[in-house]
Amino acid sequence: MYDLVIRNGTIVDGSGLPSFKADVAVNGNRIARIGRIPEKGRKEIDADGKVVSPGFIDPHTHFDAQLLWDGFAKPALSHGVTTIVPGNCSLSLAPLKAEYRMKLVGMFNQIEEMPLKAFKEGVVWDWETFSEYITRIRKGLAINVAPLVGHSVLRLWVMGEAAMQRTATPDEISAMQDVLRECLDAGAIGLSTSYVDMDEKLQPVPSRYADAEEVDALASVLGEYGRILQIVPEFYDPDLTIARLDQLAEISLKYAIPTTFSPLFVNADNTAAVDRVMRRVDEQFARGARVWPQVQTRPIDISFSFAVPSLLFMRLPSWYGIMRFGTPEQIMDAFRDPENRAKLIKESAPYETLWPNLRLRQVQTKANQKYVGKTLAEIAKARGTTPVDVMIDLSLEESLDAHFMAANMGHNSDERVGHLLKHPRVHIGASDGGAHILSFSTYGDTGYLFSHFVRDLNAMSIEAAVKKITSDTASIWGIPDRGLLQQGYVADIVLFDPATIARGEEKYVKDVPGDGSRYVRDALGVDTVIVGGGIAWTAAKGYQETRGEVLPGEKQDTRPLVAA
Ligand SMILES: [Zn+2]
Repeated sequence: MYDLVIRNGTIVDGSGLPSFKADVAVNGNRIARIGRIPEKGRKEIDADGKVVSPGFIDPHTHFDAQLLWDGFAKPALSHGVTTIVPGNCSLSLAPLKAEYRMKLVGMFNQIEEMPLKAFKEGVVWDWETFSEYITRIRKGLAINVAPLVGHSVLRLWVMGEAAMQRTATPDEISAMQDVLRECLDAGAIGLSTSYVDMDEKLQPVPSRYADAEEVDALASVLGEYGRILQIVPEFYDPDLTIARLDQLAEISLKYAIPTTFSPLFVNADNTAAVDRVMRRVDEQFARGARVWPQVQTRPIDISFSFAVPSLLFMRLPSWYGIMRFGTPEQIMDAFRDPENRAKLIKESAPYETLWPNLRLRQVQTKANQKYVGKTLAEIAKARGTTPVDVMIDLSLEESLDAHFMAANMGHNSDERVGHLLKHPRVHIGASDGGAHILSFSTYGDTGYLFSHFVRDLNAMSIEAAVKKITSDTASIWGIPDRGLLQQGYVADIVLFDPATIARGEEKYVKDVPGDGSRYVRDALGVDTVIVGGGIAWTAAKGYQETRGEVLPGEKQDTRPLVAA
């Protein structure tokens, strides 16, 4: 008698090898057997017509805060994601001294577009060290979490205010090394750093004050553990990106660790630049370095209202300034004042091709409902004005609660993106799950991989797509015992219908603590998600068992199997 038997499924085992029909038996949290299973299971699932694959791994998320009130990382888990990596881009929620909590909240608010109120009302701050944070999120954890330590946070812990002002002294670097060791011992999968992000005052984040020696010293600690380094390079500039990936390659070779950078977007106007970056990636891999670019599957869509600062306006300083620092009243005053309005409109000129194509997503008043779904060009025509004026007028009429969407802004060439996703040295990631909650909904990036690139375009086989988001990711990140359906591996398993798996439409929901809202997507075609042998979610019954683990877990015995 097994704990669980999944019968008659088509096994896509994560190795990239051709699929086959078989049953899967699970005992405890492990896969006990794959084949024809005559014995009964305490639980049985009929997977006839379904694909049975390893759970998907999402290596680039910011679920750090959400995990404190939602151990399922909804709705990521329902899309088949059984392991997430939070703590990317130099930001994690630990280690963190009490006096810097609000500083970090400010950074999450600015960089990851997460609401201040959610932290105020959704978070009970009862940890400081990394190990205490891990203990905290373990309660009710349903998804597996492989957390990164953020370099900015590490600096704040050791240097305090000086972390935001200068390079570190040798003593401070050595103190950071010690704290990083503690974090890795407590279960961190690696370290993240950023070369681009700005804090809530629009000043560089602490990690940007580090010099190369500091990064090298921290990487040497990663080398002691064989753990990964994630960075955000100056991704808007190919020369700087290439310089960063050369720096990563040297670190990777020196300490024999994997490294990864994100994001890498391919747009109509940067294909030559992406070709150059990929050529350098190939050259560095040929030298034996590991510098994994992360590429997302979905095109870029960005939604916004003027009630919340949006990164879409980052390069329009007068707009971004009032969104970032103004109260709702001040923003509306700025829109009403003729002189100010003229200045804003003048500054909007570089985006003149963007405004007409923006679509009105939602409004509150009855009078404006008739415009919902229309482009600003269409509404401007009906009102005898310009698209930018319409955006301002509607925002005033709706007391800033008018939502607009810029659809398909980039990363949308099927051929170019498909080619990148298939590339053996590309790693699928950069979802940003848990972040940018009113700008876009990443949930369903994996469904989109199957519906668009496997089913519609035939750009890759289902076996190749599954491998990309399971065993490839587990191997790159050093996540033990996951990513394959094989005897002895942990039973993180997804059952889905290959003919219908997809991402649902983006929808606006109010489920964020502090009366907050966000955009999410339902999972289509996913039937059952199993984590650690327990049924974590089914399409029929929703969220269920909580058997998530923190990976790679506390320090394990690392003595060699055969004595030297
Ligand atoms: Zn990020």
